[in-house]
Amino acid sequence: MASSVLARKYRPRNFETLVGQAHVVQALANALTQQRLHHAYLFTGTRGVGKTTIARILAKSLNCTGPDGSGGITAQPCGACAACTDIDGGRFIDYVELDAASNRGVEEISRLLDQAVYKPVSGRFKVYLIDEVHMLSTHAFNAMLKTLEEPPDYLKFVLATTDPQKVPATVLSRCLQFNLRPMAAATIVEHLATILAAEDVAAETGALKLIARSARGSMRDAQSLADQAIAYGSGRIEEAAVRQMLGAVDRSHAARCIEAATARDGAALIGAVDSLRELGLSAAGALEEMAVLLQEMAIVQALPTALAEDDPDSETARRLAALLAADETQLLYSIVLAGRAEIALAPDEYSGLVMVLLRMLAFAPAEAHADAPAPPTPTGAVRAPSAGSGMAVRSAATVATPAIAATQVATSVPVPRASAQRSASAPGAFAPASSSAPASASPSAPASASAPASASAPSSALSHAPGDSIEGAPAADLWAALVQRLVAAGAITAMVRELAMQAECVRAVDSAAARHLMLRVERENLRAPALRDRLQTAATQLEGRPVQLEIEAGAAVDSPAVRDAAERDRRQADAERVIQDDPLVKALMAQYKTARIVPGSVKPPPSPAP
Ligand SMILES: [Zn+2]
Repeated sequence: MASSVLARKYRPRNFETLVGQAHVVQALANALTQQRLHHAYLFTGTRGVGKTTIARILAKSLNCTGPDGSGGITAQPCGACAACTDIDGGRFIDYVELDAASNRGVEEISRLLDQAVYKPVSGRFKVYLIDEVHMLSTHAFNAMLKTLEEPPDYLKFVLATTDPQKVPATVLSRCLQFNLRPMAAATIVEHLATILAAEDVAAETGALKLIARSARGSMRDAQSLADQAIAYGSGRIEEAAVRQMLGAVDRSHAARCIEAATARDGAALIGAVDSLRELGLSAAGALEEMAVLLQEMAIVQALPTALAEDDPDSETARRLAALLAADETQLLYSIVLAGRAEIALAPDEYSGLVMVLLRMLAFAPAEAHADAPAPPTPTGAVRAPSAGSGMAVRSAATVATPAIAATQVATSVPVPRASAQRSASAPGAFAPASSSAPASASPSAPASASAPASASAPSSALSHAPGDSIEGAPAADLWAALVQRLVAAGAITAMVRELAMQAECVRAVDSAAARHLMLRVERENLRAPALRDRLQTAATQLEGRPVQLEIEAGAAVDSPAVRDAAERDRRQADAERVIQDDPLVKALMAQYKTARIVPGSVKPPPSPAP
């Protein structure tokens, strides 16, 4: 990938042309302008997001002498002086790039550190870039630490890593840390369009979107794929050709599968797989496209205006988003992600795909939520009785009489009217299940008013002094609030989200260095160290300071999932009471002697967006 023609040719040579990392560029440019220089920088982030590029620009900024030789440290290296041109050309003697992932890492780092005692040969500063620094041995880290503790004025370290968790705290604490973000797909599309225009290569936007998605946040990978696409399409980049090159599947197939699953239409699902097979399209590609589509649907459900208006892809996501509740979308998303992992183990990829789709069918909602998001209370939009035979109420409730064509209810078992009456006259029977959520609203409050009750932990739990240890409900409160923020920020998904939801925080201790949380988790597969590491990283990033998670085995009795379930039960009970107390419903039931509330048809309004 590193040999990409476009990536080499269009590597940004100054901060102005660097895209997608504005927050880092801003901080570095300010530091350079104000001459507040740190002696060690740590750049973290996945591959191809600009770590090496920024290190080179930084080296130029520190050493640039300006076109006339009289310039000083600058946030705008001139690109013309000897230092700038030599760094760009890879021949500046005082700028050294070292890859710690290579076998010679240990020897080279000790040689490099030996040379650190000598002043720069031609520049103002010696700049050492150590890439993949987490790969250094303990021995090499210790050697580097000595230099980091008492660095000479002329020496600057730039450390880069894709895995900051593996860098010792002693090293981390001596570095100014910058987290480089994966590039947004839109940023990649825009940048590719710019450089392809400069190269005079025609490119379809749909093709660039596919490339951007495939590159998963790495600009370098995107440029390399664009190189390949140019070769593949003999000088042009067209969507159909790129789709074929990437083994990507047209969105309409993914939409068909999701639609069939929500409609519980097994025949349509099998048909969709058959047509994929006939067209020779990749089953894994279909799952990938479904994951993207479900993710967009979830975004629409949380924030209806989030997707671009003019994008035909968004239109599909908007249409399908209306067919599912938000938690059902999440469920299908998890099934698809798990399916992507296991499809390689299936006898052949199409039968693997069929199994994943059938699993979606098994977990699909019992009835499509044609009315989701439902209004929180009956709106009174009563459909006129058709030919005197009955009526349907479009609301959170469904009142049906035998032999009417109610739009929402497929099947129902008639129950004696007496039972409906009994329920309606005894609202106490729907008293909320005992809820462990703090500050839950009074049982008599309507569902719509009490929804956000468990949203935030008491602030006292969050503001305890360093060194304090909290346990029990306050610790669980703190964890529930943190998890809610992580989920709302989209920082945790799939199994990491599952771990967070199923964990009970039994103890929280704040020290000066970090917040330590002891979590109790029942399911063994959720206690995997890799999941804990990812959750820990997400929590650290969200909190803006180190969060350390420790996991012990045991029954989690007060996890966010348990609280959510209790909250759902309470909302359900509230919704049933609201419907039964509703004057319109009462009037209808009085007027139509055979009317009854279909068991299970009452749905609380969707949870408020976090
Ligand atoms: Zn210069």
